[in-house]
Amino acid sequence: MRSRRDPYRQAKYGLPVGFPAQRNGDHVETAELLEEIYRSVVSRNPGEAEFHQAVREVLDSLGPVLAKRPELTEQRVIERICEPERQIIFGVPWEDDEGTIHINRGFRVQFNSALGPYKGGLRFHPSVYLGTVKFLGFEQTFKNALTGLPIGGGKGGSDFNPRGRSEAEIMRFCQSFMLELSRDLGEYRDVPAGDIGVGGREIGYLFGMYKRITRQYESGVLTGKGLGWGGSVVRKEATGYGAVYFMREMLKERGEEIEGKTCIVSGSGNVAIYTVEKLQQLGARVVACSDSDGYVYDERGIDLELLKQVKERERARISVYADRRGGGARYLEDGNIWNVPCQLAFPSATQNELNGHDAESLVKGGCIAVAEGANMPSTPDAVQIFQEARIAFGLGKAANAGGVAVSALEMQQNARRDTWTFEYTEERLRQIMETIHRTCADTAETYGSPGNYVRGANMASFIRVADAMLALGLV
Ligand code: NDP
Repeated sequence: MRSRRDPYRQAKYGLPVGFPAQRNGDHVETAELLEEIYRSVVSRNPGEAEFHQAVREVLDSLGPVLAKRPELTEQRVIERICEPERQIIFGVPWEDDEGTIHINRGFRVQFNSALGPYKGGLRFHPSVYLGTVKFLGFEQTFKNALTGLPIGGGKGGSDFNPRGRSEAEIMRFCQSFMLELSRDLGEYRDVPAGDIGVGGREIGYLFGMYKRITRQYESGVLTGKGLGWGGSVVRKEATGYGAVYFMREMLKERGEEIEGKTCIVSGSGNVAIYTVEKLQQLGARVVACSDSDGYVYDERGIDLELLKQVKERERARISVYADRRGGGARYLEDGNIWNVPCQLAFPSATQNELNGHDAESLVKGGCIAVAEGANMPSTPDAVQIFQEARIAFGLGKAANAGGVAVSALEMQQNARRDTWTFEYTEERLRQIMETIHRTCADTAETYGSPGNYVRGANMASFIRVADAMLALGLV
């Protein structure tokens, strides 16, 4: 076996002179190695801050695993896992209702397929660039591994802004996007779903175009489909419900329960709405939710039917909810939802929406637990503050894995030409979320960080992906 100081290795991999040798059990050298890998990721992916952040969080958890498993270092599994298998970037030309031509940029990052076909959503938002998609694809690889289901990780999207666009414009954009992306998809190759800005309507237009291009009704190529044409019950609800199930498990560990707790849920999209729904079913009171313009505070508890009417059916702003609700519901434009006192918090809008200052407000306001519905919504300093305050903290790749889990169940139903009942599918979701919680908790305990779901989730998912990569050889 060649050592890491071997000049052949250094030349082959371009390692700096003095690149540390891995010695089994030597934590100092492991930390140096991880730091070196992180620096290399930053220099190979300049300007992609969210990707760097996501990689850093995972690498910071892996020391104890590498100390026990030197072959992972020898086989350069971490470096391989940090490099997407494929990155696809394409132009998306489309014409608006006035006849003006627009060109957006489309992305699909097929990150890792050691465990199964690439699986992960599409995001349509003006902020999307390669770094966003790469960070989401990286996270997705580990999240999907945690579900225990046979799915690899990928993510895609576009800098297209659907806000204010007509139905016809949305359809034309989706069709142009799929015309290009269809070549790289397939039920055994890559299976996208929704994310921010991509819901059931967009999945319908994307699927319709895929069907036309391929001349096949290949149901398993997209998930999040409508119930009448290949979709699964509980998919729409899955991410929000799953986050609440994960929260319930964290609370159980502390002898607490959801019933009677005061909660806040940021965002008011798919994940947020179904988080509110499950919390209310379990007897909690949700007093605030938001969109990117501001938040509503509703002391009596959010009126779920009104929220769905405003956000799902009318696609209006959250301020409209407060206007119609009356009776003390307040809209705070540019307000900070994290200043609202609560016991349970569910950041469910977007990445880095909750910073260290917000985390301090939550701690002061009596928060005892946080479950991330969104992907990486808490900044690293916020996570540190939660952990120092001994708040139960469920990171996104564990707490919001319910969505992709039910997507995988949708793929199973499509493959068998079958449809399951709501009760059966929700029960499967509940079991998966409880298993993810147990896996994270047990792994954290085994590797010396009891109660640390960040470390537990990162180590458990890394081990699953890494073992599959080793078994498949250098491919
Ligand atoms: P939606 O598009 O349905 O809703 C997104 C919500 O977040 C909206 O209320 C939106 O407000 C708000 N939001 C978006 N961007 C920003 C921003 N930059 N600042 C403040 N608020 C913002 O998306 P989803 O509910 O599907 O996704 C929410 C989060 O959950 C994302 O992080 C996504 O990656 C993650 N996720 C989603 C899954 C799913 O199944 N859908 C699965 C797992 C994770 P506005 O309307 O003003 O933009």
